[in-house]
Amino acid sequence: MLHRSSLALSCLLVFSGVEAQATTYHRLPLPYIPWPISAWMDHSAGHTLTGIVIDGVDIRYDGTYISSGSSYFHDGHRGTDFALPEGNVVYASASGTVVYTNTSCPDKIQPSCGGGLGNWVAIRHPDGKVSIYGHLVRVDVSVGQVITCVNGPSGFQVGLSGISGNSTGPHLHFELRSGTRGGDVSYDPFAGPYSQSLEYWYRYALVNDPLHPGQKMHYPAATCQ
Ligand SMILES: [Zn+2]
Repeated sequence: MLHRSSLALSCLLVFSGVEAQATTYHRLPLPYIPWPISAWMDHSAGHTLTGIVIDGVDIRYDGTYISSGSSYFHDGHRGTDFALPEGNVVYASASGTVVYTNTSCPDKIQPSCGGGLGNWVAIRHPDGKVSIYGHLVRVDVSVGQVITCVNGPSGFQVGLSGISGNSTGPHLHFELRSGTRGGDVSYDPFAGPYSQSLEYWYRYALVNDPLHPGQKMHYPAATCQ
C-alpha cells in the first residue's frame, strides 16, 4: 500500500511540473484603447528591424524608443508603462492568485514609496510568472484572492491607476517577473510574434505607433481568449 501511494504521488508531481511550464498568455491590463506606451524593456537589444517585418509591418514594439539606423536598443526599463489618466480601471492580465499588495502610499509622487512602485499588486499565474501593476491610486484585491480570466469587454479589476511611488505622471507600470522582489528575472511580453515561445500577449491588434508617425505597431488584445 505504501509503495502504491508513493507512486501515485510521484505521478502527480510529474504532471504538476508539466502544467507549470505551459506559457500563460496575458491580455492588455486595461480597457481597449491604444494607450501610448512611454517606456518598455527589450530583451533583444540591437535587433534589426528589417529582420522582423511581417506583411510590411514591424511586428515588435519592444525597446524601440532609441533608434540608430535600423537597429534598436534597450531603453533600460524593466516593464511596460502605459500612459493613462488617474482613476482608470486596471484589469488582471490573466487568471492567477494575488501574492502581494502594497496599499500604504499616498497618491502623489514619492519616489521611494512601495520600492518605487507605489501602491502595487502582484499576481502569480499558472506558468509561475508574476504580473505586476504599479503606481495605483487604489487597490481592489487582497493577498490570497483567486483571479479569474473574464471574457468579453470587461475584466477582473485589480485597482485604479494613479501616480503613487516613483512616477512622473499618471501611468500603469506593467511587468512580468519570476517573483515579487529584488533579483527577479523580468520578461519582455513583446519578445516575439504571437504563438512563438517568447510571446506572452494574447493576439495583437494593429494600431498607429505614437512614437513613429506613419508606422503601425502591434498591441495586445484587451480580453482573455
Ligand atoms: Zn514603469
